[in-house]
Amino acid sequence: MNLEAIIASIVEEMRAAPDRGEVATYIPSLAGVDPGQFGMAVVTADGQVFAGGDAETAFSIQSISKVFALTLALGKVGDRLWNRVGREPSGSAFNSIVQLEAEQGIPRNPFINAGAIVVSDVNLAGHAPREAIGELVHFIRYLASDDGIAIDEAVARSEQETGERNRALAHYMRAFGNLHHPVELTLGVYFHACAIAMSCRQLAMAGRYLMLCGAHPEGGRVISDKRARRINALMLTCGHYDQSGDFAFRVGMPGKSGVGGGILAIVPGKASIAVWSPGLSRNGNSQLGSLALERLADATGWSVFGL
Ligand code: GLN
Repeated sequence: MNLEAIIASIVEEMRAAPDRGEVATYIPSLAGVDPGQFGMAVVTADGQVFAGGDAETAFSIQSISKVFALTLALGKVGDRLWNRVGREPSGSAFNSIVQLEAEQGIPRNPFINAGAIVVSDVNLAGHAPREAIGELVHFIRYLASDDGIAIDEAVARSEQETGERNRALAHYMRAFGNLHHPVELTLGVYFHACAIAMSCRQLAMAGRYLMLCGAHPEGGRVISDKRARRINALMLTCGHYDQSGDFAFRVGMPGKSGVGGGILAIVPGKASIAVWSPGLSRNGNSQLGSLALERLADATGWSVFGL
Protein backbone atom coordinates (compact mmCIF):
# COMPACT_ATOMS: atom_id res chain seq x y z
CA MET A 1 0.00 0.00 0.00
CA ASN A 2 1.40 3.39 -1.00
CA LEU A 3 0.15 5.67 1.76
CA GLU A 4 2.09 8.63 0.46
CA ALA A 5 0.31 8.48 -2.89
CA ILE A 6 -3.09 7.87 -1.27
CA ILE A 7 -2.67 10.94 0.95
CA ALA A 8 -1.43 13.07 -1.94
CA SER A 9 -4.48 12.22 -4.00
CA ILE A 10 -6.85 12.90 -1.07
CA VAL A 11 -5.15 16.25 -0.43
CA GLU A 12 -5.51 17.18 -4.10
CA GLU A 13 -9.21 16.31 -4.11
CA MET A 14 -9.90 18.19 -0.85
CA ARG A 15 -7.98 21.27 -1.94
CA ALA A 16 -10.32 21.64 -4.90
CA ALA A 17 -13.56 20.47 -3.26
CA PRO A 18 -16.34 23.02 -3.83
CA ASP A 19 -18.62 22.10 -0.90
CA ARG A 20 -16.48 22.88 2.15
CA GLY A 21 -19.17 23.40 4.83
CA GLU A 22 -19.38 26.44 7.11
CA VAL A 23 -16.77 27.61 9.58
CA ALA A 24 -18.07 27.80 13.19
CA THR A 25 -19.02 31.40 13.95
CA TYR A 26 -20.49 31.06 17.44
CA ILE A 27 -16.96 31.20 18.83
CA PRO A 28 -15.85 34.56 17.36
CA SER A 29 -12.14 33.73 17.25
CA LEU A 30 -12.87 30.69 15.05
CA ALA A 31 -15.02 32.65 12.61
CA GLY A 32 -12.06 34.13 10.80
CA VAL A 33 -10.26 30.85 10.00
CA ASP A 34 -9.68 30.36 6.24
CA PRO A 35 -11.98 27.51 5.05
CA GLY A 36 -9.66 26.79 2.11
CA GLN A 37 -7.28 24.81 4.31
CA PHE A 38 -6.97 21.04 4.49
CA GLY A 39 -4.39 18.91 6.29
CA MET A 40 -3.92 15.25 7.04
CA ALA A 41 -1.42 13.12 8.99
CA VAL A 42 -1.24 9.36 9.48
CA VAL A 43 0.98 7.63 12.04
CA THR A 44 1.23 3.89 11.50
CA ALA A 45 1.75 1.26 14.20
CA ASP A 46 5.41 0.89 13.22
CA GLY A 47 5.94 4.60 13.88
CA GLN A 48 6.06 6.00 10.35
CA VAL A 49 4.42 9.38 9.78
CA PHE A 50 2.78 10.35 6.50
CA ALA A 51 1.47 13.88 6.11
CA GLY A 52 0.00 16.09 3.45
CA GLY A 53 -1.56 19.52 2.83
CA ASP A 54 -1.65 21.85 5.85
CA ALA A 55 -0.59 19.09 8.25
CA GLU A 56 1.78 21.36 10.17
CA THR A 57 -0.69 24.20 10.77
CA ALA A 58 -1.99 24.40 14.34
CA PHE A 59 -5.77 24.63 14.74
CA SER A 60 -8.16 24.67 17.68
CA ILE A 61 -8.79 21.04 18.64
CA GLN A 62 -12.03 21.94 20.45
CA SER A 63 -14.02 18.81 21.28
CA ILE A 64 -11.21 16.44 20.33
CA SER A 65 -9.78 17.46 23.72
CA LYS A 66 -12.71 15.52 25.22
CA VAL A 67 -10.88 12.26 24.39
CA PHE A 68 -7.74 13.26 26.29
CA ALA A 69 -9.70 14.78 29.20
CA LEU A 70 -11.73 11.57 29.49
CA THR A 71 -8.55 9.47 29.52
CA LEU A 72 -7.20 11.62 32.34
CA ALA A 73 -10.45 11.52 34.35
CA LEU A 74 -10.67 7.72 34.08
CA GLY A 75 -7.15 7.57 35.45
CA LYS A 76 -8.28 9.57 38.47
CA VAL A 77 -11.63 8.02 39.37
CA GLY A 78 -11.85 4.88 37.22
CA ASP A 79 -15.28 3.39 36.67
CA ARG A 80 -16.84 5.71 39.26
CA LEU A 81 -16.95 8.23 36.42
CA TRP A 82 -19.88 6.28 34.95
CA ASN A 83 -22.05 7.22 37.94
CA ARG A 84 -21.96 10.79 36.65
CA VAL A 85 -21.79 10.36 32.85
CA GLY A 86 -23.54 7.88 30.53
CA ARG A 87 -22.20 5.83 27.66
CA GLU A 88 -24.93 6.10 25.05
CA PRO A 89 -25.05 8.15 21.86
CA SER A 90 -27.20 11.22 22.39
CA GLY A 91 -28.77 11.58 18.97
CA SER A 92 -28.82 15.31 19.61
CA ALA A 93 -26.57 18.29 19.05
CA PHE A 94 -23.25 18.62 20.89
CA ASN A 95 -24.51 21.52 22.99
CA SER A 96 -28.06 20.28 23.55
CA ILE A 97 -29.72 20.58 26.96
CA VAL A 98 -32.96 18.64 26.32
CA GLN A 99 -31.96 15.23 27.67
CA LEU A 100 -30.54 16.62 30.90
CA GLU A 101 -33.94 17.29 32.41
CA ALA A 102 -35.38 13.84 31.75
CA GLU A 103 -32.12 12.17 32.79
CA GLN A 104 -31.55 14.01 36.08
CA GLY A 105 -28.50 15.99 35.06
CA ILE A 106 -26.53 12.93 33.92
CA PRO A 107 -25.16 13.64 30.42
CA ARG A 108 -25.55 10.88 27.83
CA ASN A 109 -21.82 10.49 27.17
CA PRO A 110 -18.44 12.18 27.79
CA PHE A 111 -18.13 13.51 24.23
CA ILE A 112 -21.02 15.97 24.21
CA ASN A 113 -20.46 19.31 25.92
CA ALA A 114 -22.43 18.44 29.07
CA GLY A 115 -20.46 15.21 29.49
CA ALA A 116 -17.13 16.91 28.98
CA ILE A 117 -18.06 19.60 31.51
CA VAL A 118 -18.59 16.83 34.11
CA VAL A 119 -15.24 15.31 33.05
CA SER A 120 -13.63 18.75 33.56
CA ASP A 121 -15.20 18.88 37.02
CA VAL A 122 -13.61 15.50 37.83
CA ASN A 123 -10.21 16.67 36.58
CA LEU A 124 -10.51 19.85 38.65
CA ALA A 125 -10.94 17.99 41.97
CA GLY A 126 -8.06 18.74 44.34
CA HIS A 127 -6.55 21.35 42.01
CA ALA A 128 -6.74 25.02 41.20
CA PRO A 129 -8.16 25.44 37.64
CA ARG A 130 -4.72 26.53 36.40
CA GLU A 131 -3.19 23.26 37.65
CA ALA A 132 -5.93 21.10 36.13
CA ILE A 133 -5.43 22.82 32.77
CA GLY A 134 -1.66 22.44 33.04
CA GLU A 135 -2.04 18.76 33.83
CA LEU A 136 -4.09 18.18 30.69
CA VAL A 137 -1.64 20.08 28.46
CA HIS A 138 1.28 18.12 29.92
CA PHE A 139 -0.58 14.88 29.40
CA ILE A 140 -1.20 15.69 25.73
CA ARG A 141 2.46 16.69 25.27
CA TYR A 142 3.47 13.33 26.73
CA LEU A 143 1.05 11.46 24.46
CA ALA A 144 2.33 13.29 21.38
CA SER A 145 5.99 13.32 22.50
CA ASP A 146 5.91 17.03 21.70
CA ASP A 147 6.57 19.89 24.13
CA GLY A 148 5.44 22.50 21.61
CA ILE A 149 1.72 21.96 22.22
CA ALA A 150 -0.02 24.90 23.94
CA ILE A 151 -3.30 26.67 24.54
CA ASP A 152 -4.46 29.45 22.22
CA GLU A 153 -5.40 32.01 24.87
CA ALA A 154 -7.38 34.15 22.40
CA VAL A 155 -9.66 31.20 21.66
CA ALA A 156 -10.04 30.44 25.38
CA ARG A 157 -11.03 34.07 26.03
CA SER A 158 -13.42 34.08 23.11
CA GLU A 159 -15.18 30.98 24.46
CA GLN A 160 -15.28 32.40 27.94
CA GLU A 161 -16.95 35.56 26.64
CA THR A 162 -19.57 33.81 24.55
CA GLY A 163 -20.14 30.43 26.23
CA GLU A 164 -23.63 31.05 27.58
CA ARG A 165 -24.95 27.69 26.40
CA ASN A 166 -22.15 25.89 28.20
CA ARG A 167 -22.89 28.00 31.28
CA ALA A 168 -26.53 26.94 31.06
CA LEU A 169 -25.53 23.26 30.82
CA ALA A 170 -23.18 23.60 33.77
CA HIS A 171 -25.67 25.40 36.00
CA TYR A 172 -28.35 22.90 35.13
CA MET A 173 -26.13 19.96 36.06
CA ARG A 174 -25.06 21.69 39.25
CA ALA A 175 -28.73 22.00 40.19
CA PHE A 176 -28.85 18.18 40.06
CA GLY A 177 -25.69 17.90 42.15
CA ASN A 178 -23.64 16.61 39.22
CA LEU A 179 -21.11 19.45 39.25
CA HIS A 180 -19.01 19.69 42.41
CA HIS A 181 -17.20 22.97 41.76
CA PRO A 182 -18.48 26.47 41.03
CA VAL A 183 -19.57 26.71 37.41
CA GLU A 184 -16.99 29.32 36.39
CA LEU A 185 -14.10 27.23 37.74
CA THR A 186 -15.18 24.05 35.98
CA LEU A 187 -15.88 25.95 32.77
CA GLY A 188 -12.46 27.58 32.97
CA VAL A 189 -10.96 24.09 32.74
CA TYR A 190 -13.37 23.08 29.96
CA PHE A 191 -12.85 26.21 27.80
CA HIS A 192 -9.06 26.01 28.03
CA ALA A 193 -9.11 22.34 27.06
CA CYS A 194 -11.15 23.20 23.95
CA ALA A 195 -8.68 26.00 23.14
CA ILE A 196 -5.64 23.71 22.89
CA ALA A 197 -4.03 24.21 19.48
CA MET A 198 -2.42 21.31 17.61
CA SER A 199 -1.43 20.45 14.07
CA CYS A 200 -2.60 17.28 12.31
CA ARG A 201 0.83 15.80 12.86
CA GLN A 202 0.74 16.51 16.61
CA LEU A 203 -2.80 15.21 16.91
CA ALA A 204 -2.09 11.96 15.07
CA MET A 205 0.94 11.49 17.32
CA ALA A 206 -1.17 12.11 20.43
CA GLY A 207 -3.64 9.41 19.33
CA ARG A 208 -1.01 6.68 19.12
CA TYR A 209 -1.92 5.14 22.48
CA LEU A 210 -5.43 4.44 21.21
CA MET A 211 -4.10 2.53 18.19
CA LEU A 212 -1.64 0.62 20.41
CA CYS A 213 -4.12 -0.81 22.95
CA GLY A 214 -3.11 1.80 25.52
CA ALA A 215 0.67 1.48 25.22
CA HIS A 216 2.94 4.49 24.74
CA PRO A 217 5.07 3.89 21.63
CA GLU A 218 8.15 5.12 23.46
CA GLY A 219 7.69 2.69 26.32
CA GLY A 220 5.36 2.10 29.20
CA ARG A 221 1.62 2.19 29.25
CA VAL A 222 -0.73 5.17 29.14
CA ILE A 223 -3.82 3.10 30.03
CA SER A 224 -4.84 -0.56 30.06
CA ASP A 225 -5.82 -2.29 26.82
CA LYS A 226 -9.36 -2.62 28.11
CA ARG A 227 -9.64 1.11 28.75
CA ALA A 228 -8.25 1.91 25.28
CA ARG A 229 -10.83 -0.42 23.75
CA ARG A 230 -13.61 1.29 25.68
CA ILE A 231 -12.51 4.80 24.68
CA ASN A 232 -12.39 3.68 21.05
CA ALA A 233 -15.91 2.26 21.44
CA LEU A 234 -17.17 5.59 22.77
CA MET A 235 -15.49 7.45 19.94
CA LEU A 236 -17.18 5.19 17.42
CA THR A 237 -20.65 5.48 18.96
CA CYS A 238 -20.58 9.07 20.26
CA GLY A 239 -17.64 10.90 18.64
CA HIS A 240 -19.66 12.75 16.01
CA TYR A 241 -22.81 13.66 18.00
CA ASP A 242 -25.98 13.14 15.99
CA GLN A 243 -23.87 12.20 12.96
CA SER A 244 -22.04 9.33 14.70
CA GLY A 245 -24.03 6.66 12.87
CA ASP A 246 -23.34 8.27 9.51
CA PHE A 247 -19.62 8.53 10.30
CA ALA A 248 -19.48 4.84 11.31
CA PHE A 249 -21.36 3.94 8.14
CA ARG A 250 -19.10 5.93 5.84
CA VAL A 251 -15.73 5.67 7.59
CA GLY A 252 -15.98 2.79 10.09
CA MET A 253 -13.29 4.06 12.46
CA PRO A 254 -13.54 5.36 16.03
CA GLY A 255 -13.34 9.12 15.55
CA LYS A 256 -13.72 12.36 17.48
CA SER A 257 -14.48 15.67 15.85
CA GLY A 258 -14.23 19.26 17.03
CA VAL A 259 -15.81 22.49 15.79
CA GLY A 260 -12.35 23.74 14.84
CA GLY A 261 -12.69 21.30 11.92
CA GLY A 262 -10.35 18.58 13.17
CA ILE A 263 -11.03 14.86 13.48
CA LEU A 264 -8.91 12.27 15.25
CA ALA A 265 -9.58 8.75 13.90
CA ILE A 266 -8.14 5.48 15.13
CA VAL A 267 -7.64 2.19 13.33
CA PRO A 268 -6.76 -0.13 16.21
CA GLY A 269 -3.48 -1.90 15.63
CA LYS A 270 -2.86 0.02 12.41
CA ALA A 271 -3.02 3.79 12.43
CA SER A 272 -3.70 7.04 14.26
CA ILE A 273 -5.03 9.64 11.83
CA ALA A 274 -5.75 13.36 12.07
CA VAL A 275 -7.51 15.42 9.43
CA TRP A 276 -8.43 19.07 9.48
CA SER A 277 -10.57 21.34 7.37
CA PRO A 278 -12.39 24.19 9.13
CA GLY A 279 -15.73 24.03 7.29
CA LEU A 280 -18.39 22.07 9.17
CA SER A 281 -21.48 20.05 8.29
CA ARG A 282 -24.69 21.17 9.93
CA ASN A 283 -24.00 18.73 12.78
CA GLY A 284 -20.76 20.54 13.58
CA ASN A 285 -18.35 17.97 12.14
CA SER A 286 -15.66 18.73 9.57
CA GLN A 287 -17.24 18.38 6.15
CA LEU A 288 -14.07 17.59 4.21
CA GLY A 289 -12.41 15.86 7.16
CA SER A 290 -15.11 13.17 7.13
CA LEU A 291 -14.93 12.88 3.34
CA ALA A 292 -11.14 12.55 3.45
CA LEU A 293 -11.41 9.74 6.02
CA GLU A 294 -14.02 8.02 3.88
CA ARG A 295 -11.61 8.16 0.94
CA LEU A 296 -8.78 6.85 3.13
CA ALA A 297 -10.92 3.97 4.43
CA ASP A 298 -11.89 3.04 0.86
CA ALA A 299 -8.29 3.18 -0.39
CA THR A 300 -6.72 1.28 2.51
CA GLY A 301 -9.50 -1.06 3.64
CA TRP A 302 -8.96 0.28 7.17
CA SER A 303 -12.06 -0.01 9.32
CA VAL A 304 -13.12 -1.77 12.50
CA PHE A 305 -15.78 -3.63 10.53
CA GLY A 306 -13.52 -5.64 8.21
CA LEU A 307 -12.67 -5.02 4.59
N1 GLN B 1 -15.75 24.62 22.70
C1 GLN B 1 -16.88 24.12 21.96
C2 GLN B 1 -18.14 24.34 22.72
O1 GLN B 1 -18.11 24.24 23.90
C3 GLN B 1 -16.66 22.68 21.66
C4 GLN B 1 -17.75 22.08 20.79
C5 GLN B 1 -17.26 21.14 19.74
O2 GLN B 1 -16.09 21.12 19.34
N2 GLN B 1 -18.16 20.39 19.21
O3 GLN B 1 -19.18 24.63 22.20
